[in-house]
Parts: sequence; structure tokens; C-alpha cells
Amino acid sequence: MIKKVGFIGLGIMGLPMSQNLMDAGYELTVFDVVAEQVARAAAYGATAAATPKEVGANSEVIITMLPDSPIVEAVLEGPEGALVGMTPGSILVDMSTISPSAAIKIAARLKEKGMHMIDAPVSGGDVGAQEASLSIMAGGDPEVFAKVKPILSKMGQNVSLVGGNGAGQVSKACNQIIVGLGIAAVAEALVFAKKSGVDPAKVRSALLGGFAQSRVLELHGQRMLDRNFEPGGKVRLHKKDTEIAVEAAKELGMYLPGNALLSQLWNSVAGMGGLDWDHSSIVKCIEQLTSVEVTPGE
Ligand code: NAD
Repeated sequence: MIKKVGFIGLGIMGLPMSQNLMDAGYELTVFDVVAEQVARAAAYGATAAATPKEVGANSEVIITMLPDSPIVEAVLEGPEGALVGMTPGSILVDMSTISPSAAIKIAARLKEKGMHMIDAPVSGGDVGAQEASLSIMAGGDPEVFAKVKPILSKMGQNVSLVGGNGAGQVSKACNQIIVGLGIAAVAEALVFAKKSGVDPAKVRSALLGGFAQSRVLELHGQRMLDRNFEPGGKVRLHKKDTEIAVEAAKELGMYLPGNALLSQLWNSVAGMGGLDWDHSSIVKCIEQLTSVEVTPGE
């Protein structure tokens, strides 16, 4: 039974996920470049490490929850990287959202060293991370997945192995296409209601329960009405996820028109200075082009 778990990346998602593991009785060794986040995890009972290498040396399973592929690779490689501390047989579970090709490359690198890798990105946002109700979509070897599934089950409710390494990240890219276009659709609908002189808050309530019902309409629709663009899921990260799908589509030689449009909407929010806003802020682009603001009332 695995007891010693390492956790690198204690941000909006990683900190509550690490706390759920401690609640479940796992012994955690943690690292983040932001000392304040490490202090929060340590106050909850984790052992603070000075480097990723130290996390690797103290853990049977190392979880990473980091912004993007270059940062995941930087944390693994180099003289203070996690790979130097990890021993053959240990398992890296990368729960960050990175490209499928980067996940496959990292898995191959670990295999060379007699180590294992599972890509296990998540969906469910900060609320799902806090409530341990994330959907976790994994890629990797079934025997290795079976070893880490009890750990993943303490952070999420719907934990599935989709295929080999990279398949978890392909699933996550699919998830982000649906969620991103869903946010854009909700934004467009609420702006349309407002411009038509109909209360967008009443439209949202009327649609919940019908065929347009979704978590996006429920949560992000409410955020748009409340003008609450505190993240949550940052534009910076969803923009990266959309670009992952755009790049993969280029490599696959395929048509991904909705996702391409989404990419332009993120560029526009970025141009408004919104990279660190919640991704529901996509509504601001559509509002600006329409000269209305989605606030409750006609
Ligand atoms: P975040 O920016 O809040 O957290 C990232 C953490 O990584 C920060 O604490 C940062 O200090 C740390 N970090 C950065 N560079 C580091 C390094 N070199 N070494 C150690 N730590 C480092 O991001 P988040 O929202 O927690 O997202 C993390 C990952 O989860 C991303 O890949 C994101 O796409 C994905 N994700 C986010 C959400 C969401 O709603 N926030 C939902 C699903 C998936």
C-alpha cells in the first residue's frame, strides 16, 4: 500500500488536492516555487521540500499539478529535478494539462530510467478540487494505473483509464473544446438576451432544466451575471489548452473550426489584459462588440 506521496505545484488546484490526500491519511512531501503556498500545505501537515529532487527522493508516487509542458519538464530535469531523486519503480502522475505529445515524451523518458508515468489531467475546476469531485482522465499502463487509482480516487469521483500514455491528455483537450465553446455559447446567449431587452438572469434560470442545461450555464453563467471574474480557471490556462488542440489538429491534418474561433476569443481577452481573469470573462469580448453588459435586469 502506497503511503508516501509527493506533490509539486500547490496552486488553485494543487493545494486543495494535496489537502484531500492528507485528509485521506497519505504522508505528503511538497514543493512549489511560491513559499506561501508551501507554508499553507505545511500548516496542513505536509513536509516541505527545498527542491523537486527532495520530493522525488521522499515519495513512492510523485504528483505534478503545474501550469504547462515546459514547467513540468523543468521540474523533472536538471540537477535539482525530481527525476534525480526518484528511484526505479517509482511513479510520476502528471495531473497538469499539457499536450498529448509532451506526455508521451515524458513517459518515454521515465521508462528509460525504469520509472513509470501516468498522465491524469482533471476537469471540475477549483470547486471540484476542493470537494474531491474531479473527473480524472488517465493514460498509461493498466497495471501502473491500478496502483495509483486509490490515490486518484481521493481527489476525484470519476476516475477512468482512457488508453495508453497521452490518451488522458487527448481526453482533456476534448473536454476543453466542449467547455470553452460552452462558455462562448453561454456568453453569446446572455448578451443576446440583454440586447433584446430581456433579463439575462431570468433567461439563465429558465434554461436550467431544459436541453441547454450544463454546469457551464449554471456556474459560468452566474459568474457573468455577478461580474465575478476572479479565477477559478484562468484565461491564461484555457488559452493554452485551446492552443494544444489547435496544434494537435495541425499535426493531425484536421478541421477544428469552433476551437480555432475560441483561440481568437482568448487572444482578444488577453488583449484586454485578462490573462489572469476567470475564463467566463470571454463574455467581455462579445459585450464590447455589442455595447451591452450582461447584468441582471432588462
Ligand atoms: P495555478 O497557476 O493556480 O497553480 C500552478 C502552481 O504551480 C502555482 O502555485 C505555481 O507557483 C506553481 N509553479 C509554477 N512553476 C513552478 C515550478 N517551476 N516549480 C514548482 N512549482 C511551480 O494553476 P492551477 O489553476 O492550479 O492549474 C494547474 C494545472 O491544472 C494547469 O495545467 C491547468 O491547466 C490545470 N487545470 C486547471 C483548472 C482550473 O480550473 N484552475 C481545472 C482543470 C485543470
